[in-house]
Amino acid sequence: MADVRTRFAPSPTGTPESIHLGFVIRALWNYAYAKKNGGQFVLRIEDTDQKRSRADTEAEIFKVLRSFGIDWDEGPDKGGPYAPYRQSERLTLYQEAARKLVENGYAYYDFEAPQREKEEIKAAYDSDEKLKELKIRPKARDERPEAALERVKNGEPYVVRAKIPEDRVFEYEDWILKKKVKFFGKEVPDMILLKSDGFPTYHLAVVVDDVAMKISHVFRGQEWISSTPIHLHVYEGLGESVPNIGHFSVILDPRTGKKFSKRDMTALFGVNTWTSQGYLPAAILNYLMLLGWAPKDNQELFTLSEFVAAFDQNGVQKANPTFNAAKLDWFNSQYLQKLSDEDFFVSARPFVSKEISDEILHKIVPLVKTRVKKLSELGEYLEYFYKQKEPIFDLTDKYKEHVTKALEALEKTNDWNLETINSQLTNLIGENNFKTGDFYMDLRCSIAGSRSTPPINESMEILGKDVTLTRLTDALSVYNKR
Ligand code: GLU
Repeated sequence: MADVRTRFAPSPTGTPESIHLGFVIRALWNYAYAKKNGGQFVLRIEDTDQKRSRADTEAEIFKVLRSFGIDWDEGPDKGGPYAPYRQSERLTLYQEAARKLVENGYAYYDFEAPQREKEEIKAAYDSDEKLKELKIRPKARDERPEAALERVKNGEPYVVRAKIPEDRVFEYEDWILKKKVKFFGKEVPDMILLKSDGFPTYHLAVVVDDVAMKISHVFRGQEWISSTPIHLHVYEGLGESVPNIGHFSVILDPRTGKKFSKRDMTALFGVNTWTSQGYLPAAILNYLMLLGWAPKDNQELFTLSEFVAAFDQNGVQKANPTFNAAKLDWFNSQYLQKLSDEDFFVSARPFVSKEISDEILHKIVPLVKTRVKKLSELGEYLEYFYKQKEPIFDLTDKYKEHVTKALEALEKTNDWNLETINSQLTNLIGENNFKTGDFYMDLRCSIAGSRSTPPINESMEILGKDVTLTRLTDALSVYNKR
């Protein structure tokens, strides 16, 4: 097989916060396929929309991919044999290709389009209705090429459009969907290839670059399937052979069963939405690996290199997967548990109040590692370590007795450590025939003001004798005054 070369070709439009997990999946699968086959993975920035492309968004794309460990062999920041890798730096190539397409009868100049090209390009992506209108062939299509060339020479503004043959059937074999996909020429609009500002549209640039960069496998989102016939037409017009083209599924919003709306794509599926809550990149990535792809066995936990080794395009599912936040929680808790205490500390630190010192947090870490689904839970979960909260009393019928006796026993404990606390309280429970669960629940509710906390004896050890006794005394006096 010729060298496998895949690419991830994001458009850096929208704000940096709008980068969503779909970007990561696309990059991940392209990366995995290239690496699995000993090939190269290319990062190409498709910034042909001059108005909407942003340098900060491009920088964020680099950062996000790196935070997931997805690195590229060639790209705008790294260079490579087919540099530059930013489309805005390759304009002459597209202009040259457009000229060649016109010359070969695969495209034509349109002098009326420049006034409405913006709406037209937007409409083609946004609305099926508008797309229908675009299927009406523009008059310019039948203009004599010599006359058009004359107008170009005279400096009239123009766009270059694809000249799609009405009676042509376009066909390709989708290497992911594993089926032949057909399109009828009369259904395919004469889309703009080169805009009046000299910039290409996606349809021209993607083909020119996939050829120039020797991309062997195109692996992209299903939203691009309807533009494939235009691309096939351009490949043919340039006299180039077509790479393997494949499309993968769309991720569905669990609330609607449909595609995420643009807004929710950012809000619910945004990379930042999850990382900012303390979901670990490795856990998110592992979840994404299984969103639309299934391994041969039932393995669920994969590091990136394990995924690359296991990746097989036949495991890519045709049905659209639904985003499942509960499953993501499960992956995150698995990864949090696997962290070393030190790594957990480093990841957790930003989510925990500064009122808890590093020293104390180091002590707390082993108690909470297996108890949280995401790091952002820690803020509230650990609040009682520095803040006395309202006690809760309503749980058992022996509240007063439990707390009074615990106070007496703990007051007598001189050497304050986990061992002495454990033995004092175990003796107490035995002597009084207390129910262990009820006893500790009452202590927990008095000391932490919460029904769910890390182990309470360990908490008391960390809080220290004074704080523990104060909390129990205060809780008891509030209880007595009710
Ligand atoms: N620039 C396109 C995008 O952002 C790339 C599509 C493709 O992979 O061909 O979706």
